[in-house]
Amino acid sequence: ADGLIFSTPTGSTAYSLSAGGPVIDPGTHCILMTPICPHTLVARPTVFGAESDIKVHIYLREGEQINVAIDGPAGAGKSTIARKVAAELGFIYVDTGALYRTVALNALRNGVKDTKNPEEVIPTLSSAEVSLKFIDGEQHVFLRDEDVSTAIRQNEVSMAASNVSSIPEVRTFLFDLQRNIAKSNDCIMDGRDIGTVVLPDAK
Ligand code: C5P
Repeated sequence: ADGLIFSTPTGSTAYSLSAGGPVIDPGTHCILMTPICPHTLVARPTVFGAESDIKVHIYLREGEQINVAIDGPAGAGKSTIARKVAAELGFIYVDTGALYRTVALNALRNGVKDTKNPEEVIPTLSSAEVSLKFIDGEQHVFLRDEDVSTAIRQNEVSMAASNVSSIPEVRTFLFDLQRNIAKSNDCIMDGRDIGTVVLPDAK
């Protein structure tokens, strides 16, 4: 994969990557790449600041969208890097935490008292119609027709999001949505299980 060259589906920009060496064309791409299998490259976000432990996995398949998965511990700077890389590449950045927050908001609005309790939370999934729209490259999350991008940032929702995210049925519910977004968009996702579960090819 040395010197691998790929282009975005729109054909607007061609990126040159070099395996384990400096980027071929620093003007258009700025990530150092190392191939670990034919479809996977590991990149270090060296250009955007200090060295970091974040791993960026990219898998490429002919005719498919390019998906980048960023996993790392809380507070490592995943979303900061993801936003910058997405802006640089013209990909969309998918903040998967917002999806869990929206499911949590829906549960709270449906009167769920204990957001850790699967018996209370699972029945609310049928009304959790979550979708994403990208406006000027920024993610807006919708619950049915309502833009809840601001509402999901309340403290109460943060706690509830953490609670509902430990319910396996909630995770399964959101996998399909995340995978569908990845299938039809060049995107960068971050979260705790993106490289392992949602985009498993990006191991
Ligand atoms: O990142 P953020 O704080 O918005 O995430 C909200 C909650 O969603 C977190 O508490 C985390 O537990 C959960 N989450 C998750 N899997 C992801 C993203 C977020 O379980 N891929």
